[in-house]
Amino acid sequence: MAKILIIGGGVAGLSAGIYAQMAGHETVICEQHSVAGGSLTHWARQGYHIDNCIHWLTGTNPASSLYRLWCDLGALDGVEIYKRPALFTMDFRGERLGLSRDLDELIERLCARSPRDAGELRALRKVIDTFQGFQGIAGKGHDQAYDNKKMAARLPGILKYFNLSVEDLAKRFHDPLIRHFIAGLVPGNFGALALIFTTAGFFGDNADLPEGGSAAMARRITERYRALGGTLLLNKTAVQIELEGGRATAVRFADGTRLSADAVIVTLDPACVFGKLLDVPMPQTLAKEYGRLERFSAVHCAFACDLAQPSVTGDVSFPLPRALHKTMGGAYLAVRNDHHETDYTPAGKSLLQTMVYCDEETARHYIELRKTNMVAYRKEKRRIAWLTQKILEAKFPELAGTLTVLDVWTPATYRRYLGTEMGSFMSFALPRRRLPIRKSNRIPGVANVVLAGQWLQMPGGLPIAARTGRDAAAVLEELFG
Ligand SMILES: Cc1cc2nc3c(=O)[nH]c(=O)nc-3n(C[C@H](O)[C@H](O)[C@H](O)COP(=O)(O)OP(=O)(O)OC[C@H]3O[C@@H](n4cnc5c(N)ncnc54)[C@H](O)[C@@H]3O)c2cc1C
Repeated sequence: MAKILIIGGGVAGLSAGIYAQMAGHETVICEQHSVAGGSLTHWARQGYHIDNCIHWLTGTNPASSLYRLWCDLGALDGVEIYKRPALFTMDFRGERLGLSRDLDELIERLCARSPRDAGELRALRKVIDTFQGFQGIAGKGHDQAYDNKKMAARLPGILKYFNLSVEDLAKRFHDPLIRHFIAGLVPGNFGALALIFTTAGFFGDNADLPEGGSAAMARRITERYRALGGTLLLNKTAVQIELEGGRATAVRFADGTRLSADAVIVTLDPACVFGKLLDVPMPQTLAKEYGRLERFSAVHCAFACDLAQPSVTGDVSFPLPRALHKTMGGAYLAVRNDHHETDYTPAGKSLLQTMVYCDEETARHYIELRKTNMVAYRKEKRRIAWLTQKILEAKFPELAGTLTVLDVWTPATYRRYLGTEMGSFMSFALPRRRLPIRKSNRIPGVANVVLAGQWLQMPGGLPIAARTGRDAAAVLEELFG
């Protein structure tokens, strides 16, 4: 039985721990935070429950292969899945368009609305259909995954979208509401295939919400790890992996302690590992990604709302006036109201969480400001909350006088809580003309340190974290048999 130290108690670390325990190893997960879960996170403010992760969980369809992985992790078996009516809704000048569950009905409705866009809409429908087959999601017309021959026949159709960013794709539509609808779900610099992949999952009933949201899911996975005999050490920050002759022998911690290990699995942002925690250079394949890909983060606010049922339910996005893009750090403001979770708020109230995706430059600004001038940083957070409240009240007049600020969090918050260099909570933006190919989890010249976590496959997300954890545990089999 090998002794395995896992650095990071997010989903990747917990997944690695669960699979390694199942394979008979003795594992210890070291997590710097006071709770496990990493980005799969939540917290409470004044009696309101802020869920700061799952907008959609890929793998909620029992017929998908990912569902079985989630069941191994104790995340989904026996758990009620909430199938919301729309993945998200775009609100443009008071008109709303929801990404509803029936793809054919949605496309035909949009074609009727904007006949000039019918060609693009039907082409999009076809490629979403292809991706559903590719993912092997059961559901209407998709009981079998496509075989390679059928996929090859569909490749030319996919290629068009491979070459487009989400922004490029949006520009192909004439109707302004449809244009914003296409542009508003994932950041505009993502490749169009990322949008297609996500919607294919949703239309295949494979991207829904587990009951209890992020908190309950993190708790279930943590309990599964512990039930298998794993040891979770909280408030335990790794500062150095000790190497001897190309092998890791122990990990040193910020509290002055040291734990020996036969192998180490590292789930952190590699930018915070190589040349820091681990005194070897970053493997070239990963280093190249940092050179050429964008990372992203977000600025958020949470508001208590005195209305039990505001008109904003689920996830609603709207475009920000151009003059506010720089100030807010992005082009769309997304509002989230998890109204299906009745115990997230006191009775008769609701909770509105906002998010604006931001680029590296904005993320750096917040991180630097917090580091160099705490007073100015706090003032900036107050300004963002004030501005966001004004924007919400102007957009949804029913909210005027009903909102109280509960919290504001920025890339600097993510930097602090997750330890990622750029305050990223996912990995790199998946641009056009790139496929999300998984990077190797091995480190040249260091035999027994294995990588896991969202950074191995852009753009990250919970399934990537879980899969890379499982793959890291599989490497232990190669190392120790
Ligand atoms: C607002 C938001 C919305 C999201 N929405 C979705 C969604 O809808 N669907 C989806 O699939 N994904 C979503 N994600 C992304 C998803 O949460 C992440 O991709 C995933 O949780 C990453 O898991 P990980 O284990 O790779 O990394 P992390 O969760 O970052 O875990 C790394 C862990 O390492 C710990 N750590 C760091 N440094 C040290 C150290 N030196 N010593 C010890 N521990 C350390 C950190 O505290 C952290 O717990 C969202 C994330 C956020 C924040």
